Amino acid sequence: MAIPYGHQSINDDDIASVVEVLRGDWLTMGPVHAAFEAALATLAGTTDALAVTSGTAALHCAYVAAGVGPGDEVVTTPMTFVATAATAALLGATITFADIDGVTRNIDPAAVEAAMTERTKVVAAVDYAGHPADLDELLEIAHRHGALLLEDAAHSIGSVYRGRPVGGIADMTEFSFFPTKNMTTGEGGALLSTDPGLVDRVRRFRGQGMIPDRSQMRRRDEGGWFQEVHSFGINYRLPDILSALGLSQLARLEAFKARRTAIYDRYNAALSDLDGVGLPAKRDDVDPMWHLYPIRIRDGQRKRVYNAMRERGILVQVNYIPVYWHPVFEDMGYRRGMCPVAELFYEEELSLPMYVELTDADQDHVIEVLRGAVA
Ligand SMILES: *Cc1c(COP(=O)(O)O)cnc(C)c1O
Repeated sequence: MAIPYGHQSINDDDIASVVEVLRGDWLTMGPVHAAFEAALATLAGTTDALAVTSGTAALHCAYVAAGVGPGDEVVTTPMTFVATAATAALLGATITFADIDGVTRNIDPAAVEAAMTERTKVVAAVDYAGHPADLDELLEIAHRHGALLLEDAAHSIGSVYRGRPVGGIADMTEFSFFPTKNMTTGEGGALLSTDPGLVDRVRRFRGQGMIPDRSQMRRRDEGGWFQEVHSFGINYRLPDILSALGLSQLARLEAFKARRTAIYDRYNAALSDLDGVGLPAKRDDVDPMWHLYPIRIRDGQRKRVYNAMRERGILVQVNYIPVYWHPVFEDMGYRRGMCPVAELFYEEELSLPMYVELTDADQDHVIEVLRGAVA
């Protein structure tokens, strides 16, 4: 049987939570959605969290709330999923890619500093593989230039940066609950912010632009049925059916983290002597919840090792194609060679299977096949 690179963990409690919502009155906009948002806020130590239909939706909301539009610039990393940049480009922003740090694979604060202009509205950092970006340094740079820091924490719910949980550190933080991520709602995501004004704008945008609070209406005396829209929005609400799964998964997050840490440690111990293979590195001031186990296959062997492992049913992955290599960016004039550290990392990167239900026996098999492939 094939071993995927990532997979969800669903237990009987998760299933029972979803069934309970299905038997109840509120499939969406109900108390379980609110409870999931409250639990996310508690986890991150923020006052608000907004659950939405995907991580991509959360990123879109964040850029809208930041007021990103034509003429604005967004500085981000090429070592991410395309959505980090695409959702800002869709709003008309110009994307500037800043190269990554050679150790963490996260955006390099020095490269960000060099990329900032008076038009930069948002710096979007990604916690690659679960390792938090250099958030304090990035916050300082962004704020000094009048920009906001958006943390794409699609990989890193459960991670800790300098003693603080990811989610309440950057101006805005996005989570994804896609099945391969650290916890899942099938499709889903969340946007957290430390700024009530940003939260308010996200809440309106994800709810068709409706004013959620009567006290903010222009005409309060029309009647109880009255609604107002002050700016256009769309519908990104996460239904209660999926919020129930999220709430149940959130209760398992610490157990998920323990298992992912054990898998990470076992890979480190088993692979440290392998010639031509580089292992992931970690800064001392972070406690990551590892989403990926990204290794480097040196000497131009990555493609061969990828194919050899896939042939043996080990569905290794490559994270990520440098974002500006996508033809959509190429057609706008972006060229290969812009971020050499990221490109070299891409040429060598291979993500080994990493998920809660990967057994020790599965992992031993992955290790054995990898050893055979690089020999
Ligand atoms: C998964 C992911 C996203 C998008 O999340 P979806 O929930 O799939 O829309 C964005 N950024 C990164 C880094 C991701 O890994």
